[in-house]
Amino acid sequence: MPPKIIKTVLPLALLFPLASMAAGEEAKPDPRKQLAFEVIDRNAQQMTDISDSLFYFGELGMQEFESTKLLQDTLTAAGFKVELGGAGMPTNFWAEYGSGQPKIAIVTEVDALPGGSQTPGTYERRPLVKDGPGHMEGHNTHGGVASMAAFAVKEAIARHNIPGTVAISFGPAEEQLASRPFLVRGGYFKDVDAVIYLHIRDALATGFGLQNYAAISSVFTFHGKTAHGANNPWDGKDAVDAVELMSIGFDKLREHLRPTYRAHRTITFGGIQPNIIPDKGQIWWFVRDASMPAAKETYDKLLKIAEGAALMTGTTWDVKYAASAWPQLANKAMAEAIQKNIDAVGMPKWTEAEQQFARDFQKAAEKPVVGLRSAPIPFGGRTQTAASNDNGDVSWVVPAAIFTFPSSVPGIEYHEWKAAVTPVSSISHKGQIVGAKVLAASIIDLLTSPELLQKARAEFEVESKKTPYFSLVPPDAKPDVELNRAEMEKYRPEMRKLYLSKAPRFN
Ligand SMILES: [Zn+2]
Repeated sequence: MPPKIIKTVLPLALLFPLASMAAGEEAKPDPRKQLAFEVIDRNAQQMTDISDSLFYFGELGMQEFESTKLLQDTLTAAGFKVELGGAGMPTNFWAEYGSGQPKIAIVTEVDALPGGSQTPGTYERRPLVKDGPGHMEGHNTHGGVASMAAFAVKEAIARHNIPGTVAISFGPAEEQLASRPFLVRGGYFKDVDAVIYLHIRDALATGFGLQNYAAISSVFTFHGKTAHGANNPWDGKDAVDAVELMSIGFDKLREHLRPTYRAHRTITFGGIQPNIIPDKGQIWWFVRDASMPAAKETYDKLLKIAEGAALMTGTTWDVKYAASAWPQLANKAMAEAIQKNIDAVGMPKWTEAEQQFARDFQKAAEKPVVGLRSAPIPFGGRTQTAASNDNGDVSWVVPAAIFTFPSSVPGIEYHEWKAAVTPVSSISHKGQIVGAKVLAASIIDLLTSPELLQKARAEFEVESKKTPYFSLVPPDAKPDVELNRAEMEKYRPEMRKLYLSKAPRFN
């Protein structure tokens, strides 16, 4: 829908109290944004064809081959320079259009989740492919919205001779926090001036301040000596005992950790059968906290506990880095600019049928029956949650904003199959259109307003220096490109039958 131009007798300073400098500009439509909005309206079908196609690919992290191929074909045909396979990950995707500075990047992801297969449009449990993976967080929509917004910005750059570059980063395996620290290490953001992190939600919103938790994920393996459990157990060194002692040891530590910490573990190898003393034991840990230095402090204690467990059992041990994520540092200056575009574009106009579907769905899911949101989230800071997202690393090396678009039903939680009911619905499609418009307009602001970029950078210099960034990735670590491969290969033949076989072309 067209941007809403606010006609009012109120002083503009009241409408835009946080950005009085820009208030004058907002009074008349910006032709560059108008052009971008027209491009998006004209290409809405192409955008949702991308998102819908990605839904049916339903690819797990590091296995996003069909998804990135479609994005590569679409964006190459649209005039973007596309790099696939950088930073040692075959499905790592980076695309650019334009030249030189400023360079503004969209950072997002397109991976699905194991067990998430579900027939869209029905909230009865009905997988498309039994036990198969699927988009139960709606990351498929990120592919369409990011590509659409970048293409609309490209058209504005070309028509209005805007200097600079628009880039898109689709990082692999967000659900396993497995790629962004490698992208940062690979120098992808060195010449980027600002990034906007894009995610689906049930709301049109931005925010600022620390978002999410720091996380460190590592797999500990103990090595012992096997023996008969009855005949000569005294000859054995029990590696699973070491796993248990590590777990107990950490439980003793819990009382002495700061209340913000989180730590959880799963035993990934616990022996073969009771009468065989196991020579291998394995335990996988997540340690989290509100800041990375705090998480690291707990993690260092965990390493000592592993050492102690090995000492007590006469075993040896090793540890393998699995993943890590810094909390996201969301930039306020950029959020203010995004909010102005949110307020100008506004929420989609839902039909009564869409509202009714949402209410019926909420009722069936035993959630508050509130329907779809009719207004954007008011501007403000957002509370830090204990979940993690590896794009956090990016926000400590370049000013970063967060932006979410309204393509799902309030109350329907992600990471369960119910969230796979609506990602290809008209609710999702309409949310994607406003999402692409706000995103494109915000990138145009960042490309054309040196004052905004300067303000974002100045804030970043102060905030990021409070906790200087360090990488958790060991120097010799490589991304785990085998991640999810077996699981994906198992289901792909059945899933392939459902592919939409579209070849969207922007115009
Ligand atoms: Zn996500």
